[in-house]
Amino acid sequence: MQNRWTCVNGKLLPTEEALLPVEDRALQFGDGVYEVIRLYRGTPFALKQHLARLSASSAAIMLDYGCVENELQASLEAILQKASGQDGQIYIQVTRGTAIRNHRFPEHTRPNVICTFSPLPAKNAIQLLKTVTLPDERWMHCNIKATSLLPNILAKEKAYRHGADEAILYRSSEHITEGSSSNIFMVQSGTLITHPANQWILNGITRQYVLALAKSLQIPYEERVFSLQELLNADEVIVTSTLQEIAAVVEIDHHPVQNGCAGPLTQRLHEEFMGSLSTEWFWEHAI
Ligand code: PLP
Repeated sequence: MQNRWTCVNGKLLPTEEALLPVEDRALQFGDGVYEVIRLYRGTPFALKQHLARLSASSAAIMLDYGCVENELQASLEAILQKASGQDGQIYIQVTRGTAIRNHRFPEHTRPNVICTFSPLPAKNAIQLLKTVTLPDERWMHCNIKATSLLPNILAKEKAYRHGADEAILYRSSEHITEGSSSNIFMVQSGTLITHPANQWILNGITRQYVLALAKSLQIPYEERVFSLQELLNADEVIVTSTLQEIAAVVEIDHHPVQNGCAGPLTQRLHEEFMGSLSTEWFWEHAI
């Protein structure tokens, strides 16, 4: 049964049949922004926050999101109907549009909007991830969720080729930033520590949710820069993202973390996250 659907500029199609022109600016320049949103039993998690970040990313690259906002809303409604009740993900991409290739912005081009639903298996078990540290070779605006992801995918691929699941990136030995497609937390003597939300990281929606969860559970936390040495000496290391949710790092550069198991605070946050999926608190903080 066809179960992957895409709206391209408002037109709903099976994903295999959905197409964009070869002169789309995201294809030629990576000139676009995007979001990935998790669906739990058909309900999008933190939709409002994701759309706010999409709007902020668009503004940051001078892309007129306002002129397609209503169309995107209608596409989301159509896609959510197709998703009805399923676990899955929604991928939204807004590009600067289609134009004859030229580095300058095209003058009379309307953004192209893609909105895709793909089902995902519901998962409950905490993921255990092996990681390697790699230099962060990205630009200086990592807070923008832009489609130009070459440094991220190269880092992820290098991690895989080293037998790891994720790359933990650093600007210098004193400055760990985030994962290639995730945010990183470490635990030091019961305190949760993560990079401040600034130009060096994407301010993950899951990151923000974990901080809200920590606050409500009275778990101490700090948003500050930490070093590679601190990371290697941490009691626990945690990866967060929309698709990985809250995952435990069990290896860094082939050295075990927490004897290869999820640490107690990681487990607690994961349990609270999963448990809160059916509570009002969760949805108040998530939507
Ligand atoms: N950092 C980067 C570079 C990412 O690509 C992602 C997600 O794709 C994240 C962090 C986590 O963000 P979120 O929790 O919003 O998925």
